[in-house]
Amino acid sequence: MTISRDAVLDWLEAFAAAINENAAYLTQLDSDIGDGDHGANMNRGMQAVLTILPGVADKDIGSIFKTVGMKLVSTVGGASGPLYGTFFMQMGNATADKMELTLDDWIAAMQAGYDGVVMRGKAQIGDKTMVDALSPALTALKTQRDAGAFISDALRAAADATKQGMEATIPLIARKGRASYLGERSVGHQDPGATSSWYLMRTAAETWGKAR
Ligand code: ADP
Ligand code: MG
Repeated sequence: MTISRDAVLDWLEAFAAAINENAAYLTQLDSDIGDGDHGANMNRGMQAVLTILPGVADKDIGSIFKTVGMKLVSTVGGASGPLYGTFFMQMGNATADKMELTLDDWIAAMQAGYDGVVMRGKAQIGDKTMVDALSPALTALKTQRDAGAFISDALRAAADATKQGMEATIPLIARKGRASYLGERSVGHQDPGATSSWYLMRTAAETWGKAR
């Protein structure tokens, strides 16, 4: 099985729902080491995405991702708006004209999205950002692919790796974004952007759990 366009739309809806449910928690995390707006920022963006999805539901997956990315850039603001926006726009470039995704297609999309985030934000692994959650996801996907895993199992492994990457941000000193202003006082807190990235990968695994 592959990931159909409808499944992609389902995932975007599931991600929006997870952000909505956890907006207060994300904001709490961002209050600890930032300015307390990550949950509100992401929720505003994903609710705006929900309003435009019906208009692009008959397009190819690349067009859908690009539209989502542009909407996030224009509605989220802060650091995470351009970063998540770039992530989706680059995923859209990598999936242009596709009506379904194989595991290889998904890995190519994730790689393009991840590279875009790194190019834009200049964060390295260990800087206590969303990069620390997305990087292990990509590594896990490639390991699973090389082992010949089903998409569903690869996605589950990627979600688990993302969760570990998210939790591993707790002892780190923030070196990018607002949290970096706190220096050592950022230690002991989980990064909000890494946490929203975990919802992204977790909802992919949940939504596409039957894809083989
Ligand atoms: P802001 O920091 O402008 O208030 P948000 O609160 O919405 O924006 O997002 C903060 C999150 O953005 C952080 O938790 C971190 O994961 C992510 N982030 C910030 N700067 C960078 C960067 N340069 N590279 C990657 N991620 C970053
Ligand atoms: Mg913030």
